[in-house]
Amino acid sequence: MSETVAAISTPNASGGIGMIRISGEDSLPLAEQIFHAANGRKVTEMRGYTCAYGTICDGEQTLDDVVLTVFRAPHSYTGEDVVEITCHGGVYLCRRILSLLYRVGAQPAGAGEFTKRAYLNGKLSLSQAEAVMDVIAADGEIALKQANYARSGRLSKRMRECSERITEMLSAFAYWMDDAEEFPPELQEDTLLSSLSGVCGDLQKLLDTYQNGKVFREGIRTVLLGLPNAGKSSVMNWLAGTRRSIVTDIAGTTRDVVTEQVRFGEYTLLLADTAGIREANNPIETIGIEAAFDEVAESDLILYVVDAAVGLTAEDDAILHRFADKKRILLWNKSDLTNTNPPQMEIPIAVCAAKEQVGEDALCDALKQGYPVPDSNSDMAILNERQRTLIEKALTALQGGIADLLGNQPLDIVYHSLEVAANALYSLDGDNVSEDVVNGVFSKFCVGK
Ligand code: GDP
Repeated sequence: MSETVAAISTPNASGGIGMIRISGEDSLPLAEQIFHAANGRKVTEMRGYTCAYGTICDGEQTLDDVVLTVFRAPHSYTGEDVVEITCHGGVYLCRRILSLLYRVGAQPAGAGEFTKRAYLNGKLSLSQAEAVMDVIAADGEIALKQANYARSGRLSKRMRECSERITEMLSAFAYWMDDAEEFPPELQEDTLLSSLSGVCGDLQKLLDTYQNGKVFREGIRTVLLGLPNAGKSSVMNWLAGTRRSIVTDIAGTTRDVVTEQVRFGEYTLLLADTAGIREANNPIETIGIEAAFDEVAESDLILYVVDAAVGLTAEDDAILHRFADKKRILLWNKSDLTNTNPPQMEIPIAVCAAKEQVGEDALCDALKQGYPVPDSNSDMAILNERQRTLIEKALTALQGGIADLLGNQPLDIVYHSLEVAANALYSLDGDNVSEDVVNGVFSKFCVGK
């Protein structure tokens, strides 16, 4: 970490403003070599949290007028000396300034290197650092709230409370194993069982947030299903706002799986429209039908389209039943052709007329039933697969501990399970994690962050 690194932190595109960030011990002296302050002041003499206006020069050539901001360690994003140069937002210009910095001795920053340094310097925990990328990627209010919940450290705190409770139990075990005279009350079976179940319950709550949270971060992988002519392609076109799929009156003309990304308030649907499912004797169509079933297996949600004028047939029932383990919403389509009400069903129903572009609110309501909008802190989600896997590992170990306790296994076996759980939970925030894990986390970042 002793190297001083630099990168362009703004997107690789022209814009009003571009920003080049430098971090490390030599940030100020390096910036000094390419910057001339209008007031003649030296960068190395500037205090933290101050700016200077001036020019960036390459020898005799002035490249741009810029504002340079100084942050002194440890009061910076990375915890090191940081200089930020804000220039005009030209792609070539930013690269030119960056290469000047390389020439005077800065090294290229790797992906996520500034945030990685912040983590390594103790400015952020690992889960807070991970959340920085989620803040950048958030494309809606809920995704942003969830990311900021984690970035502020509140998610870490919740996870830490669980690990601390396990550590307390481990201390009681250690005390007992150390030939204590009295058996610690914390280890009485009832007390221990209730402490363990309490932590399991809290971990399970955290795990439960994952799937729903993912919906708001990544969108809902959705497949349109229904009998031929129910109106799947029309629904696709209506939702996507384009005539993306070919709509025809001839049953069975949608042969491929096509995808569209559709935004509805807080929901993003990643839509796949598939060939109508029915017994086909045409081989091309059969391929399409198989693709539809594959797509269903991969998807989170089925929008099942029914022609309201035809009504719900036994075939519809059979298909809905076949995918009973999936989230399903019934689209009672072509409601402009009939006044028939949809049947009473357990799954959410949205009455619509794709051709008339009617029914968006009904679909939104149905989505809310399937994917409730998180509205309290305890609904806030864990953010990624790494966190999910570690929490699951801790939970499984604790459940094993409970089973051992109930099976009258020796206490040192229970102790071992608790240790596994505690280590998994401590890894969430970067304790005891290997360099590979840390590098893996930051490899997903962009350069400049
Ligand atoms: P798919 O085979 O399920 O993809 O069905 P299509 O989207 O190709 O639609 C079949 C036929 O139903 C076409 O003639 C559409 O114009 C018609 N259609 C689809 N949705 C509606 C609707 O809401 N109202 C009416 N009146 N016709 C519709």
